[in-house]
This record gives sequence, structure tokens and C-alpha cells, in this order.
Amino acid sequence: MLTKEELKRRVCGIIDERGETLIQIGETIRHQPELGFKEFKAAALFSKTLGEIGVPHQDQLAVTGVKGELKGAKPGPTLALIGELDALVVSGHPLADQSTGAAHACGHNAQVTAVLGATMALVQAGAMQHLAGRIVPFAVPAEEYGDIAWRIGEARAGRLEFLGGKPELIRHGHFDDVDMALLIHTTSRSEDSLAGVSTSNNGCVVKTIRYIGRAAHAGSSPHLGINALYAANIALTAINALRETFREADAIRVHPVITLGGKQVNVIPGEVHLETYVRGKTVEAIYQANAKVDRALRAGAMAMGAQVEITTLPGYMPLTNHPGLRSYYQANAEALVGKDKYVTQGHRTGSTDMGDVSQIMPAVQGYMAGASGTGHGADFMIVNRELVYLGQAKVLATTAIDLMWGDAEGAQHVLKDYKAPMTRAEYLAFQRGINKTEKYDGAA
Ligand SMILES: [Zn+2]
Ligand SMILES: [Zn+2]
Repeated sequence: MLTKEELKRRVCGIIDERGETLIQIGETIRHQPELGFKEFKAAALFSKTLGEIGVPHQDQLAVTGVKGELKGAKPGPTLALIGELDALVVSGHPLADQSTGAAHACGHNAQVTAVLGATMALVQAGAMQHLAGRIVPFAVPAEEYGDIAWRIGEARAGRLEFLGGKPELIRHGHFDDVDMALLIHTTSRSEDSLAGVSTSNNGCVVKTIRYIGRAAHAGSSPHLGINALYAANIALTAINALRETFREADAIRVHPVITLGGKQVNVIPGEVHLETYVRGKTVEAIYQANAKVDRALRAGAMAMGAQVEITTLPGYMPLTNHPGLRSYYQANAEALVGKDKYVTQGHRTGSTDMGDVSQIMPAVQGYMAGASGTGHGADFMIVNRELVYLGQAKVLATTAIDLMWGDAEGAQHVLKDYKAPMTRAEYLAFQRGINKTEKYDGAA
């Protein structure tokens, strides 16, 4: 009778045997970076590879998502192993796509490869006959929240509602038959050691702001104009003044940019555009900070007698890495890299749509090393292919075995007494509730 530990060793052995194939897949995706909701080549490769190993799957979920299914010997919960397909625009990256500027500067190519590696090994080892429930290898689109103008156009055309991949998948019901989710993200940060996890990450809302003033001759008749740039300046100053009211515990981040500051120097700016995120540790904290930011934005319009149009879009929800699920990931990551090379960090102030998943089921986003340079930077490179592609695959596969072995006692243990912060319906209603455009007339 095969033991659980023997099965884990067998699966890791297969990942090593298939190492060259997996590294080739990872490098192929790295060399053909695609932006979110346009990851057609990476999705096709994922789909083709699942087909070659006989794993049934669905394609074109939320445009480019691919979802496979491995069935265990007995009924039980469903674990999704998630890999993100997308790259992002990073100017100056040596492997950037010439036409789109997209580059794999966040290491998502490794995630997709690791999910395939884990799936291949589970299939070839005959693992599912020893496991209960289902394992879902899931390639998902558009984690990076960018390319916003194009996505808003897609939303207007009815092809998207939310601008991130996992929110769209949740909207379409593709997480309805999933009970828990695991993702491993590549890291280049030395403080992350070789593997680790945070306890939580910030969530955010995304805002686009348009100040409308009145253009006029800047030299001869500025008194006839309404300066939209000064209205925006007053708003930015007010936001900065509000920072002292943000509590450290809430980890608020507001980082506006001016995307249109005026068009011609001898004209009083009649239109100015801003974009910002409002990030925070909890939904309540984001809401409170967002209300203050709105007040500051109106204040700029009021002072100058300008108009302001404030559009608030759903961003990503705060991430809570489920402690129970985390402990299974930790045990298997430590088994690979050593206990002294694993770190548990506290709260991180970036955002990811794994946060959205964590609002409706136990979820974990772990980190593993093997990259160098700066995340989202032109110097971000994969330097340890074995750790990045094969190591992540091993940790995914062995954690899955721990959770689903026998009667899936591990997964049942994670789910016991678990109550999701939100139901899927509550999640969707909440996100839809964020989406609004306010028009404020400061001259009224
Ligand atoms: Zn990223
Ligand atoms: Zn990322």
C-alpha cells in the first residue's frame, strides 16, 4: 500500500523527469508576453498541454481562462491550483513585446508552468486514485490592473464587466464549484527568502477623475477662465492633508497621478484628468478613506467653481491568506527549501485579485524565490529555473496531495468551521455597488 509520503516523492520525481519540458513551457510563455484578457498564446499552450495528458478542460472562460479537472476516487471538496496568464507593460524590458510593450516582469509565466507541472505529475503518478474530491488546474487571465482604457472600452461593449480576471471568472460562476484556491507567486525580493507567505494584503478601489473648467487666454483674459489644473492641485493638497487622519493599522495608500494636466501653455487648462487607487487593509478602511478622497476632490472643484466627475471602479478586495490552508502550503514549501528559508510575513500593502477569491473561499497566495531584479521592473529576470518552474510545481502538487489524500481530511479540516466573509452573490453586489460616477458642480 502506497503511503502519502511515497506518493509525494513519486510526484516530485516525475516533475524532475519532466523538467526540461516544463522549463521549455515556462520560457516559451516568458518570451511571448501578452496583456490581460489577451493571453491567447499562453492559454492555447495551457489548453494544448492539458489535452496531451488527457485532462478534460474548458477554454475561453472570461475570455482566456482555461479550467481543467482531475477527479479523485471518492467525492470531496474541490481545490483549484491557480496560475495567472498575463504580463504587463514595462518600458525597457529586454523581452518586452515590440508592439504591446508587454513583459513577464511579475513572473506569472512561472505560475502557469507550475500548475501544468503539478497536473502532469499527479496524472502520471496515478495520484487521483489515492485522493478524494477534485483538483482543478486553472489558468486565469488579467491579474495586473492596467490597460484600463482598453478594458473600459471592452466593458462598454459588454464583453467585460469587471476589469480584473478573477472577478470576471467569479461573475461567470467559474469559481462556484471550487472550495479553496492555492497560487504561488514568484518573488525577487531578498526579504522573502526562498519561500513564504504574508498574512494579508491590501485591497483597493480604482478612481478616474475629470476636472472641467473653462479655457481662456492665459495672458489677456485669465479672469474669464476656470483653471481645472488648480482645482486638481487643491484636491491633491487636500488629499495630502488628510493623510494624517489615516490610521497606521489601516495601511491606506492613495497615490494619484495627473494623466492630463493641460494642453497648451498659453491657455488656462479647461480639462484635467487624474487617476488614483485608494488601498487599505479592510473594506471598511478603504470605504472611509475613499469617502475622504471624494470630499477632497469636490473641494478642489468648489474652490475654483469648476466641475468634477469622479468615477470609482471596483478594484481588488483585501487578501486574507487562510491560516489553515497556509499551514499545508508552509509544510510542503519548507520540505522543499528548508525551514530556515521560509518566512511568514505580516501585512503587505500591494493588491491582487486573489483577494477577491479569499473573500469567498479559503485561499492562499504564497511566494517562492528564483527571480532577480525588481518586480514590475525592466530588470526582472528568472534566474533559478529549477526553483521557479519545478519547485513551484512540486509545492503545488505535494500540498494538493496533503489536502486531498484519503477522504480529503486535510481539505475538510481547512473547511471545518470556515465561514466565508462574503457569499458569491454578496461579493458581486458589493463590487457592483462600488461602481459609480458622481458629477459635482463646484459653481452651483
Ligand atoms: Zn504584478
Ligand atoms: Zn503578479
